Amino acid sequence: MNTCDKCGSNRVAEIFAHSKDLSSFVCPADGIYAEDTYFPEVKGICGGDDLDISLCLECGKVQGTFPIKIDVPDGIPLARIIIRIEQELEWDEESEFSQDDLEILHTIRRIILGSNMYNDFLEEDELEDHFEVDEIELIKLVLEKE
Ligand SMILES: [Zn+2]
Repeated sequence: MNTCDKCGSNRVAEIFAHSKDLSSFVCPADGIYAEDTYFPEVKGICGGDDLDISLCLECGKVQGTFPIKIDVPDGIPLARIIIRIEQELEWDEESEFSQDDLEILHTIRRIILGSNMYNDFLEEDELEDHFEVDEIELIKLVLEKE
């Protein structure tokens, strides 16, 4: 049996949760909230569909070494694009985007939410693997406006 790495108690609970594409989290780096998606890969805590921690029921410490280093990859985080798109779609009337743009933004949103890309980081030159030219232009515009 494992003992707590802080207090030495043997009251360490293994907590494992598995969701089917329905995890939610808030990213500490930028406050991005994502739902119905995958967890980011954080060693000893979560990743993909799984949350997997060991928790000391004596002192409350999650087992492991802290602070946890999270490597944020380069590229364009698609969660950020989605939040920006949602803002634009909500503020339709004052939006600087035309009605046609908003239609395309709807499409981009559907593509991102309907795939496993929500959590992903894409390099700019990888955008063309997933989006049409006019969509890419709009994504760039969305990112520039941040
Ligand atoms: Zn403990």
